[in-house]
Amino acid sequence: MNYKIYSKNKNFHFIDIECSIENIQTDEIELQLPAWRPGRYELQNFAKNIQVFEVFDENGQKLQTSKITKDRWKVQTNGAKSITAKYNYYAYVINAGSSFVDENILYVNPVNLCIYAEGHINEPCFLELHKTENQEIAGLNNQQKLNDTLVKIPFHDFYHLADSPFIVSSNLKHDFYEVGDVKFNIWFEGNLSREHLGRIRTDFKKFTEEQIKLFGEFPEKEYHFTTWILPVPYYHGVEHRSSTMQVLGPDSQNFEELYIDLLGLASHELFHTWNICKLRPAELLPYDYTKENYFPTCFVAEGVTTYYGDLMLHRSGVFDQKQYFKEVEAYYKRHFDHADHASQSLVESSWDLWLDGYTQSIPDRKVSVYHKGAIAAQILDLHIQRISHKTRSIDNVMKLLWERFGASANGTPLKGYTMQDYKHICEEVAEESLDWYFEKCILGTESLFDLLNEYLQDIDLQIVRNEEGLVKLETLS
Ligand SMILES: [Zn+2]
Repeated sequence: MNYKIYSKNKNFHFIDIECSIENIQTDEIELQLPAWRPGRYELQNFAKNIQVFEVFDENGQKLQTSKITKDRWKVQTNGAKSITAKYNYYAYVINAGSSFVDENILYVNPVNLCIYAEGHINEPCFLELHKTENQEIAGLNNQQKLNDTLVKIPFHDFYHLADSPFIVSSNLKHDFYEVGDVKFNIWFEGNLSREHLGRIRTDFKKFTEEQIKLFGEFPEKEYHFTTWILPVPYYHGVEHRSSTMQVLGPDSQNFEELYIDLLGLASHELFHTWNICKLRPAELLPYDYTKENYFPTCFVAEGVTTYYGDLMLHRSGVFDQKQYFKEVEAYYKRHFDHADHASQSLVESSWDLWLDGYTQSIPDRKVSVYHKGAIAAQILDLHIQRISHKTRSIDNVMKLLWERFGASANGTPLKGYTMQDYKHICEEVAEESLDWYFEKCILGTESLFDLLNEYLQDIDLQIVRNEEGLVKLETLS
């Protein structure tokens, strides 16, 4: 499948897409637009943004096409060996997982608007993009310049293309650093002074090195941190196999405040390069873009990542202790002040992400896989450290998980992990049964307030509730 993405009429915010499919052997072929995007486990029904959808044979003859689900089309190929779908997509939303076009910028999350043909999803594909001479393309590896304005980008398969967001703009600011032989690009769109780039590069390099030290390798040859700074308040990032897309704002706020958000987001998203992009729950391997992909372990994907995102900033010296404690207190408060009496466990709330994971819950129903998940990760970490006299920690769990299920950067197929796999690895590292931990912290619904406090003593911390019952983190000494 080969794709062209451009915009005939930028001011009306429509992106045009052409998708050509070759080597067709059948009388009918089915075309699918993803119903959701990895990173946000809810149906988003991107097809509602398509205004016109037509399919042509190699002679330009229009083929009979009918919809068979809300986002799937059946095409009568009429003997054609290759066909081209031509359609447009309304792109006027800016968040880290959306697409947007106007006269200045083309911002695309291909998963929003690229169809695939059933039976062709694993085939290599190409994307062709037009740009003016002063525009750059942020977020994509292996850009092949065909001429001054035409760029071709190869992808291993549709999954790779769908996981590769990009920005085409003449306003991009670019910097990079290297760790080993991996190049890490930093791209900013929007209002950010170049004077900050040096500091950003230095700090990003520190937490990147710390994360690579944990896993022993980086799964990609090149990576992109692409950040769009908006004039309005925003805090959103999405992980991808060789990049992250982040949206932050407002640009008018004190840079130091915006910078804390940028660091927190970037460290979290980079950790996902291992934990979920490669180290994947079995239920999400491969992604099924047509429907819900239920999985019970988002407390590993998001909870462990939330815990490590801040921890890595602290360990690498980017966050001092005060800043680190502030971040930790923030997720303690989000959980204990708002969801301590929820009726669901982490596993139940992971499953129900597809139901109401990203909207306000009815009272006392769900927990956050991010916040309670991070607390559960910390309890596991402190428990392993306690019983092993600090010779082992959750680091060993993640390293082993990576070696067994994720370390396939060189092309060997990924092997998804199950809830049982994760439990067995935790127990292997702990060298004891962790039935109690999984029953209480992962499958249970009782408050973790006292248990967390018991473990926080080991690092001279405690949580207390003030007169209004709100949680506060304090040092013991
Ligand atoms: Zn995340």
